[in-house]
This record gives sequence, structure tokens and C-alpha cells, in this order.
Amino acid sequence: MNLPISFEFFPPKTPEGADKLRVTRQALYAHKPEFCSVTFGAGGSTQSGTFGTVKEILDEGVIAACHFSCIGATKVTVRQQLATLRAMGVKHLVALRGDLPSGYGVGGEFHYASDLVAFIREETGDAFHIEVAAYPEVHPQAKSADADLQAFATKVRAGANSSITQYFFNADAYFRFVDDVRKLGLDVSVVPGIMPITSSTQLMRFSDACGAEIPRWIRLRLQGFGDDTASIKSFGLDVVTALCDQLCTAGVPGIHFYTMNQAAATTEILRRLQYKA
Ligand code: FAD
Repeated sequence: MNLPISFEFFPPKTPEGADKLRVTRQALYAHKPEFCSVTFGAGGSTQSGTFGTVKEILDEGVIAACHFSCIGATKVTVRQQLATLRAMGVKHLVALRGDLPSGYGVGGEFHYASDLVAFIREETGDAFHIEVAAYPEVHPQAKSADADLQAFATKVRAGANSSITQYFFNADAYFRFVDDVRKLGLDVSVVPGIMPITSSTQLMRFSDACGAEIPRWIRLRLQGFGDDTASIKSFGLDVVTALCDQLCTAGVPGIHFYTMNQAAATTEILRRLQYKA
């Protein structure tokens, strides 16, 4: 296997977490990622951690993509943040609506990611390569699958260059989504986002929150392993490697790994895929 890969990290909360992430990044750089991205907390809550981690990646000589969510933001703050990112040398963004934690008012001047993409283009022209999020299994708040597809098309037409999917374990949902995107006349690349399975409870929690379906057979097997982490990891590697293999055979444009700031599972999946950087 030989195709572009990228790795996603979240900003660490502690100095120990930052040290651990530096080690993780060095291990993963061996695979020569096209870029590494850093997530952005709701309402800009992780901004300094996100920008700090992005800066470290750039300083390590790797292309960094900064996630950027707009919910609750104003045009003034977004303009300032874009200027900061440009001054840092960032050329790659993942433009998102984001989710505000319950209790926050909606507020802000942006309603959807498409508003953010349009604003970035208006303000900065082609200064940034813009990725947007795609949902092969439909975003949990969408009115319908078709409405969600149209919302995706709006983001692309607003000026997105490419997209990364929410993670999924059912490749057919991804293939169907790409077919639907092509039927709308969009040739945007749709890179599958892949979540290595390393913990059963964490995966269930994330999947419930983001609407990613864990097929019944995977859920039941994971539940059956209980606290046996070795069996969970071994099963997870088998399942996720097979998924990547299927996607690569079908000719996906790349793979984006949700690393959860860990190198081991992603590295082992790439080894099993005989990935050549
Ligand atoms: P949008 O594309 O705006 O869609 C949100 C919802 O609104 C969808 O249901 C859509 O169907 C609907 N919608 C869109 N436009 C319209 C319209 N015009 N009219 C009516 N309905 C509409 N979250 C973070 O907080 N930080 C991150 O760093 C982060 N990174 C992510 C990276 C990837 C690759 C992915 C897939 C998700 C990421 N998320 C992140 C999660 C994301 O913020 C949530 O899924 C959020 O709920 C939606 O963001 P979006 O950009 O997809 O929103």
C-alpha cells in the first residue's frame, strides 16, 4: 500500500501529555505523513493548545493542518485567528462548525461550516487549503441523509478543497457517500477517517456522541472481551486493518488516522498493510 496518509492529534492538557505527544509524533513521522492535524475545542476552548501544537509540528518540518471551529465565534475573532495562523505559516485548515457544550448559548455569527469556509475564502483568498468534514453515516443533527449531503455540497461549493470523513466501520456507507457526491458533480476528494480500536468504552462513548455506528457484531464482541485489553486491541487491529485494506483496494485518495495521540495501533495497522512511505 502506498497512498497519502495523515494523522490527527488533540492538544495535550498537561506538560506530561505534551511530552508524550512529541514522542508519538516522532514515531509516526517515520511514515512520512502528508500532514498532521490538530483538533480545536468547542468555542475555541483549546485555542492556545491547538495553536501551540500546530507550531511544534511546523517547527518539526511537517505540514500542520489546524482544525478551526466557528460555532459561537464572531467575524472579528475569526479574522484575528486567521491572521495569527497565517503569521505562523499555517497553510492548511480543517474548517468546522463544531459543537458547543450544553449550557452555552448558540450566539455567534456563523451557523454552519459552509459560512466559515465562505468567510475564509472572502478574507484570505487561496491562502489556505481547506478541508471540511464528511459524514458517510449522516451527521447526527441532520434533518435527513439528503439534507446532510446537500449541506456537504454547500461546504464544497463555498470553497473547500477536500474532505475527511467521520470514522466508520461500514465501508459501504463510505462508498455510497462518495457515489452520491459524484452524482452531484463534485470531484472533491473524500478521505476516509479511520479510528483504530484500542479501548472498548472510549469507542462506545465517542461513537454514541458523534453518530458513528459500531456494527452489532463488533459491539458485541468488544463487550464480550470485558476488561481484557489485549483481546480488544488484537481484535481492533484485525477489524481496522481489514477495513483499510478494503478501502485501499477500492482506490481511496488517502487515509486520515484519528490517532488519539497514540502511535502503536496506527503503526501496527500500517505495518500490516505493508505501507511504504
Ligand atoms: P456542518 O457542516 O455545519 O453541519 C452541521 C449540521 O448542520 C449537519 O447536521 C448538517 O446537515 C447541518 N447543516 C449544514 N448546513 C446547513 C444548512 N444550510 N441548513 C440546515 N442544516 C445545515 N469538532 C470540534 O469541536 N473540533 C474539531 O477539531 C473537530 N474536528 C473534526 C474533524 C473531522 C474530520 C470531523 C468529521 C469532525 C470533527 N469535529 C470536530 C466534529 C464536528 O465539529 C461536529 O461533527 C459538528 O457537529 C459538525 O461540524 P461540521 O463542520 O461538520 O458542521
